[in-house]
Amino acid sequence: MDIQTLAASVIDGDRRALARAITLVESAREDHRAQATELLEILAKSERQALRIGLSGTPGVGKSTFIESFGMMLIAQGLRVAVLAVDPSSTRSGGSILGDKTRMDRLSREKAAFIRPSPSQTHLGGVARRSREAVAVCEAAGFDVVLIETVGVGQSETVVAQMADLFVLLLAPAGGDELQGVKRGIMEMADLILVNKADGDLKSAATRTMADYAGALRLLRKRAQDPEAFPKALAVSALEENGLQSAWDEMNELVAWRRAHGFFAGTRAEQARFWFEEDVRQALLAQLTAAGPLRDAMGDLGASVAKGTLTPALAAQKMQDLLRGS
Ligand code: GDP
Repeated sequence: MDIQTLAASVIDGDRRALARAITLVESAREDHRAQATELLEILAKSERQALRIGLSGTPGVGKSTFIESFGMMLIAQGLRVAVLAVDPSSTRSGGSILGDKTRMDRLSREKAAFIRPSPSQTHLGGVARRSREAVAVCEAAGFDVVLIETVGVGQSETVVAQMADLFVLLLAPAGGDELQGVKRGIMEMADLILVNKADGDLKSAATRTMADYAGALRLLRKRAQDPEAFPKALAVSALEENGLQSAWDEMNELVAWRRAHGFFAGTRAEQARFWFEEDVRQALLAQLTAAGPLRDAMGDLGASVAKGTLTPALAAQKMQDLLRGS
């Protein structure tokens, strides 16, 4: 495969090239990795940027319905929209929550949209890198908005927030008056909380839930990268397509403010550094788990520690010596 040609086709907006490029960055094969690195290097020169929006919510909250309605609205405004999924469930059970092909039926038929289900991978670290690189490919392909969707379980929100300019949390109307056990850490990551299903019988519950979260958000520590009044909570109906334009307006207002105050570029720069360090960490871990002398040493030293013939401290020291020598 000629990487130069592939890169040129991606930049030209060729959809098959785009799909092939993403398959390449998702591949775990070592020769593919080298090609993917070369490809990303060329694509980065296009210097195109999309607005990267991370979107999280538990299964059933209405993520696909929202993405479909929201995506269709953006397309009607002349924007091109890519949708990527980070799905930790597919790594555990082999079954993907987000991979269902029947999702986003209307959007998937649009020329200005590109939908990519989550790759199945062995660990979240791998999914993270591949998703981040797929985002970069979509940016080079000229998409205006890249939506990165994830399920509200485990660590995937943190991973998605680290590759997004904006992090949106989608919630369902609460039944009673309790907040839905959203972890504080997740709340702290959110730039916008959207309480979905604000329609029909659920409308008043959604409005109440929105007010509860707006109150909760006000109690969180103020972040430097937020203007007054952010993060916000809004009520929307993905099904009836209500509140979506307001949500988009809020996102744009926040982005404009961050751009004007240097936080947009600043956050991207920090994220780039984070992912570089993460890649190095992953590579070091891979050295320890790939078949070879290092893995053998881990096994042997571990056995000695377990038997009590070596202290954990000394065994770790020996391991470090080996790593330095390798
Ligand atoms: P996901 O698992 O988060 O992707 O959720 P889905 O988009 O598949 O939606 C789950 C269910 O909620 C479906 O039956 C949808 O029709 C319904 N749903 C999604 N959005 C809305 C909404 O705005 N209002 C109402 N009433 N139902 C919705």
